[in-house]
Amino acid sequence: MVDKLALGVVVMTRSGEIRYRNRRANSMAGTHTGLLVDNAVKEALLRALHGEDSRRTLEFYGPPQVAVVVSAEPLPEGAAVATIEDVSDRRRVDAVRTDFVANISHELKTPVGALAVLAEALADENDVGVIHRVAERMVGEAHRVARTIDDLLELSRIELGEEPVRDPVSVHDLVAGAIERARGLAEAKGTNVAVLDVPDEVRIVGDRRQLVSALGNLVENAVKYSEPGASVQVRVLVEGAFAELMVADQGIGIPAADHGRIFERFYRVDKARSRDTGGTGLGLSIVRHVAHNHGGEVLVSSQEGEGSTFVLRIPLHIPPGDGAEAPVRVEAQRPTEQNP
Ligand code: ADP
Repeated sequence: MVDKLALGVVVMTRSGEIRYRNRRANSMAGTHTGLLVDNAVKEALLRALHGEDSRRTLEFYGPPQVAVVVSAEPLPEGAAVATIEDVSDRRRVDAVRTDFVANISHELKTPVGALAVLAEALADENDVGVIHRVAERMVGEAHRVARTIDDLLELSRIELGEEPVRDPVSVHDLVAGAIERARGLAEAKGTNVAVLDVPDEVRIVGDRRQLVSALGNLVENAVKYSEPGASVQVRVLVEGAFAELMVADQGIGIPAADHGRIFERFYRVDKARSRDTGGTGLGLSIVRHVAHNHGGEVLVSSQEGEGSTFVLRIPLHIPPGDGAEAPVRVEAQRPTEQNP
């Protein structure tokens, strides 16, 4: 039973001999980390033989980063027992959570702070022209808060990983939904969103709402990061068991160094520009999550000053009895993008 524990257990006899080590305690044997943990365990056990409880956290900066808690206490008959607990995953989750909360606070604090300053300015203002301008800016900042909250809610819904919907979804319908979503923005910028090569009969497996949101985000970005009056192209190809939904623009492009980071929450290549375009920095994280929820992936190829192409690869729907032994399985697979 002790061998089945996720906790390492080591027992030392009264004479200072190691009497027992469970399987987990042996699992690090032979590594540099294992050696350092072993030394800490022995030290703790010897202290416990003298009646002292001890607890120590060992941090190894890796990679991979490892954090281990070693504790020891005396046993009634004069022996001592030590436990070794690997807390690396818990630490990582805590760090991500702390980071996320800090990011959200910052993202919301900025427009809320601006609202407060603008409201103060308004309170002392008599000039109608200025009042109008300030009020307009306040509306803009309020919309920004609302967009960030909407995107956060959407992201948490998608991340929550409720039982995913697995309906057959026509790519034609999907493209239409995505374009509809980006229509207001495209019209405001005079951008033409051209639909090229979207086969009528191709269907993919998944949650229509999530898929429209992902593709819609890609179309919105293509419009946002292109000059006014530019053109954006959407096409769908079939590649093996996947549909490739492509959104291409000839806009500002993304420097190669940022390709691996743009899918992170709140990451923006150019903060000021993203703010001007009303970006929340969450769009591509939503796209990546949707792709993974559907057993697919999202890829980018882009050159600064030349434009970008994003490809959302989603498994095709293969009707039962249509040459396939089983329906396409929709399972999360390891991301192939550069970011974790
Ligand atoms: P945002 O809300 O800022 O657009 P996203 O997560 O959608 O956030 O995108 C992250 C960043 O990636 C953007 O801030 C922008 O710098 C860059 N980006 C995304 N799509 C494009 C694109 N089509 N062309 C150029 N840059 C893009």
